[in-house]
Amino acid sequence: MAQIIDGKTISQQIKEELKEEAGRLREAGIEACLAVVQVGTDPASTIYVRNKRRACEYIGIRSLLHELPENTSQEELLALIEQLNEDPKVHGILVQLPLPKQMDESVILKAIDPGKDVDGFHPINVGRLCIGEKSYLPCTPAGIIELLKRSGITVAGKECVVIGRSNIVGKPMSLLLLQENGTVTIAHSKTEHLKEVAKRADILVVAIGKPGFITREYVKEGAAVIDVGIHRNSQNKVCGDVDFEDVRQVAGAVTPVPGGVGPMTIAMLMRNCLEAAKETVEQR
Ligand code: NAD
Repeated sequence: MAQIIDGKTISQQIKEELKEEAGRLREAGIEACLAVVQVGTDPASTIYVRNKRRACEYIGIRSLLHELPENTSQEELLALIEQLNEDPKVHGILVQLPLPKQMDESVILKAIDPGKDVDGFHPINVGRLCIGEKSYLPCTPAGIIELLKRSGITVAGKECVVIGRSNIVGKPMSLLLLQENGTVTIAHSKTEHLKEVAKRADILVVAIGKPGFITREYVKEGAAVIDVGIHRNSQNKVCGDVDFEDVRQVAGAVTPVPGGVGPMTIAMLMRNCLEAAKETVEQR
């Protein structure tokens, strides 16, 4: 039976460490501050935004919430971002995705000052990640690396298979695994013989967006399986892309949903905010 990788406990440890760091920054006269922008009232976004604000409160990061109506124009949102870019008291800016259809997500993400881009989605930060320079790392993949490290799972030299090639999870995940010296394969919707490819993995990261897709036939015995998916099943229970009960019979380690990758994502966002605030101390 697989070891359960407990993201809830690990993220709590990280939050305790960050709380101390926020305290040290306050002593140095800096109150870390995250501005969160939500456009519209998508219920899932509202929950994510609430969780982020709670984490800020717990750690001691000031959070400013800008709630804009669904019919906000792109120009209005760009004007707000510009104002936040210019505000020296704001260290991190997060625009909650998805955005309403009248907005071009890529234009909005590029408008955020790369030095305040705590989601790590700005092309400058993506480029820096790609060439191995210091950057704000996208929170979900960064959280997965931290989960692996703190669970004693070594990446170096291992076969890593990432299923999914999205800009926010799959692609940056594969770059981070490569940075950790993994041998990385990216699989996606057009990959042939997915089961065989997935079965090569010592570390299998699943970010497909299909509930319960990965069963034991995709998993090599003893592999570490990281489930990024978040869904509600027909009984309204939260579940992932991995059939947890089936996969845990063969895997060496597996993340549960909820309580695996999700809480790590928020912890990494908090880490990025404190990094951004620390930069302002270093620039003094
Ligand atoms: P996405 O829809 O942008 O990307 C899905 C990827 O899966 C695509 O690259 C596609 O090629 C691949 N894919 C789809 N069907 C496939 C198939 N049959 N076989 C192989 N590959 C296939 O999704 P995303 O934004 O990367 O998110 C993936 C999942 O992770 C979603 O459930 C999302 O809700 C969840 N998510 C969780 C967190 C977290 O904090 N835990 C963060 C981001 C996303």
